[in-house]
Amino acid sequence: MNNSAHPTSAATVGDVVALIEQAYPPELAESWDACGLVCGDPADTVRTVRVALDCTDAVADAAIADGADFLLVHHPPLLRRVTGVPVTHPKGRIIHRLIRAGVALYAAHTSADSARPGVNDRLAEILGVTPGAPLTPVPEGVDPLTATGIGRVGELDTPMTLRGFTARVADRLPATEWGVRAAGDPDQMIRRVAVASGSGDSFLGTVLGLDVDCFVTSDLRHHPVDEHLRAGGCAVVDTAHWASEFPWCAQAADLLGADPRLSASVIDLRTDPWTLHHSSTSAGKDRP
Ligand SMILES: [Zn+2]
Repeated sequence: MNNSAHPTSAATVGDVVALIEQAYPPELAESWDACGLVCGDPADTVRTVRVALDCTDAVADAAIADGADFLLVHHPPLLRRVTGVPVTHPKGRIIHRLIRAGVALYAAHTSADSARPGVNDRLAEILGVTPGAPLTPVPEGVDPLTATGIGRVGELDTPMTLRGFTARVADRLPATEWGVRAAGDPDQMIRRVAVASGSGDSFLGTVLGLDVDCFVTSDLRHHPVDEHLRAGGCAVVDTAHWASEFPWCAQAADLLGADPRLSASVIDLRTDPWTLHHSSTSAGKDRP
């Protein structure tokens, strides 16, 4: 399509997919991933795009209520193998609803994690960390500061204690019920930070070999963190998975909204599944 000759002609689903894949190339995705068009006809017209992290029922309803033609999400709804999408299946129900309303659905998952700018750059920037080298191996001859890959390692703009940095992470990421927790000496100074958006415990071993003071990621568990710390590993900050990745949605909406044919915005719904959090009371501290 020649945009200069037809500046106001409508975009198609195929055009929007091309814009997304220019920014978040599918070849950057992990081999196990399922990035791409989930439903939609490449020939259909798109004027209104909505962006969300997860395609929940509430997100699909919001996209349809907004008159969206295209919904871009981060998490592939059909990542785990399915053999059908009947309406009686929770995922099939959403796919049917979108198809009936004429909404195309695309998932940019690890392609967007690895890309520059991508999910990890957004997370690093929000926390005041320079988005440097990825945590995944950098091919020989490639500048680590521009290399694509999952995770980022960089310098914190202002050195501060783990206590202060944990408060900053909680303040700067979108709010969730259970907030942010950290493991390590609360008074140690944090200068160099590694981040991995979403579930990053598989990078604990990588981070152990790096000169970093803190690792920010999500979905951390008792044993991996305990063993990491006892092996001399850096402090870790554990955020809600949704909170570490949701900020990417604005980046993606800006990217698509820059095309004059498209109106793009974020669906401002918190799709973090956790709805309650209660700190332990001091009275419980004596109990085993
Ligand atoms: Zn994720």
